[in-house]
Amino acid sequence: MARKLIAGNWKMNEPRHGAAALAGALAERARAAGPLGWDPLVCPPATLLGAVGAALQGSAVALGGQDCHPAQSGAHTGDVSAEMLADAGCRYVIVGHSERRANHGESDAQVRAKAAAARRAGLIAIVCLGESEAERDSGETLAVVERQLAGSLPPGADAANTVVAYAPIWAIGTGRTPTIQQVAEVHAHLRRRLGAAGEGTRLLYGGSVKPSNAAEILALDNVDGALVGGASLDPDDFWAICRSLFQSSL
Ligand code: PEP
Repeated sequence: MARKLIAGNWKMNEPRHGAAALAGALAERARAAGPLGWDPLVCPPATLLGAVGAALQGSAVALGGQDCHPAQSGAHTGDVSAEMLADAGCRYVIVGHSERRANHGESDAQVRAKAAAARRAGLIAIVCLGESEAERDSGETLAVVERQLAGSLPPGADAANTVVAYAPIWAIGTGRTPTIQQVAEVHAHLRRRLGAAGEGTRLLYGGSVKPSNAAEILALDNVDGALVGGASLDPDDFWAICRSLFQSSL
């Protein structure tokens, strides 16, 4: 069975000293827990990768980027390549988060190119997808995520180089979550659509995951972890979500 992954997406938050303290607090908890049978990950802003990576040294908490450019290098002002993230100590990179799809007009094809770049650099791409509230209300959810999945995964995507995160747009940062049946339905659909080539690919749920709802979500078949935004900025909350993995397996 795939190792579960709990990924913290810090977005554009935390000054340098706060980021180092947050990472240090998580590293401390991970060290105290001993060998882990699951994978904790934090994805800070690019400017903080060095400070956060240093604070995570010697712990099982992995480092990830929040986005990458498809190209390896070149005239792309303001962008960061997958190779640069790998060079900074990252093992993962989030691509296609709905905030990037909305704020930067990223298409499935661009997300696919970014996921391919991640693979080229030896990173694991966390490919995000999810429906809007209007799409949910009009019954299009499964069609939307299926289309995004087909369009956003590059050839050769497999369990070793790709994680898929279902993060419904209307649940991100809102405190609202789909019902447990809705999460189960989407994840089962994604699992079927991944088919044999995607066997073992981890499917994360993201959208207002918190200590109070994590155990129920993480207990579902086909939910192999969580993508956590707001709650990942508090080490107690993030660690409580991680601890829910053990409650969920009871
Ligand atoms: C996210 O941005 O990926 C996310 C899941 O955010 P939140 O947990 O704050 O809803």
